[in-house]
Amino acid sequence: MSHKEDNGGKGSSHRTDLYASIPRTCLPIVYHSDYNITFMGLEKLHPFDAGKWGKVIHFLKEEQLITDGNIVEACEATEEDLLVVHTKRYLNRLKWSLVVATITEIPPVMFLPNFLVQRKVLRPLRTQTGGTIMAGKLAVDRGWAINVGGGFHHCSSDRGGGFCAYADITLAIKFLFERVEGISRATIIDLDAHQGNGHERDFLDDRRVFIMDMYNRHIYPRDGYAKRAIKRKVELDWGTEDSEYLQKVELHSEGALNEIRPDIIIYNAGTDILDGDPLGGLSISPHGIVKRDEIVFRAAKRRGIPILMVTSGGYQKKTARIIADSILNLHRQGLIGPEALEGEGSSSMVTSMMCGPGSSGSTFTTV
Ligand SMILES: [Zn+2]
Repeated sequence: MSHKEDNGGKGSSHRTDLYASIPRTCLPIVYHSDYNITFMGLEKLHPFDAGKWGKVIHFLKEEQLITDGNIVEACEATEEDLLVVHTKRYLNRLKWSLVVATITEIPPVMFLPNFLVQRKVLRPLRTQTGGTIMAGKLAVDRGWAINVGGGFHHCSSDRGGGFCAYADITLAIKFLFERVEGISRATIIDLDAHQGNGHERDFLDDRRVFIMDMYNRHIYPRDGYAKRAIKRKVELDWGTEDSEYLQKVELHSEGALNEIRPDIIIYNAGTDILDGDPLGGLSISPHGIVKRDEIVFRAAKRRGIPILMVTSGGYQKKTARIIADSILNLHRQGLIGPEALEGEGSSSMVTSMMCGPGSSGSTFTTV
């Protein structure tokens, strides 16, 4: 498989750690304890469980899907990595605490010296961004990958917002296009409750990227300019419930994938569609979220298309449990796992892998 070579053969690119090879003994689940934002209780000022990522990992360990040694440790995206998409001007603006306070919607951040903002707020977000880029390559190699964080779909190359400071989805796709042979078309399936205006602005005129977006039409960001990039737009009303929602997910994800067959699917699996979410305004049950993820993974697997999932928005106290339950369900259904690529018409090749703590010794395994 030519497209599996590290750093691919596509012209000159900067050197990056994010595409370093990962032992086959690791599951393509990406995480780092640095994902979690904790700083003097500041994180509590946001309507957010800013430690949800660590809790997902905790639940997955409890259920013995993963161990300390068999998942992939995310690396922080460097400035050079970020410059693949972001402008220098934008990255320089993040050196102003006021700008970061505005983007992350945590007002007190404006009073912190920027070195603290960098360390306590932006580093976690850069590490999650690195995780999404790494998961992109893993998805191509293994047929699936999950970044337990990421999904900052309101950020574009020159503009952050809605808690999103880096455009991790755009970055993951651009890295794949630039570095991996055979990857030239991507489909984004964005099922967060909000419109994904960041990646939409970035790919507005890029015919290689097909965007399906399903969101509450009445809430932030209502970005009409970005909507022009959506090839399959599904606008929902307040309080949409499971049956209508799941029917639409099935119909439109199948429809999107029938319309254009991509080389990779980026699935933005925001859980702010959950009933009671203070921002999302939809009424989907925990079971509905588990079913939704299953529908999308099934559509990908049936076609043998690699899928990268990021967890995006959704920060109620019960959110982490639901994300973990969904990942466990995907595993039970045979949609993820060491052999997830086999069968159902896939041309890919994973035969067998030993998973477990035997993979120690690599600097890329962890937690
Ligand atoms: Zn959202």
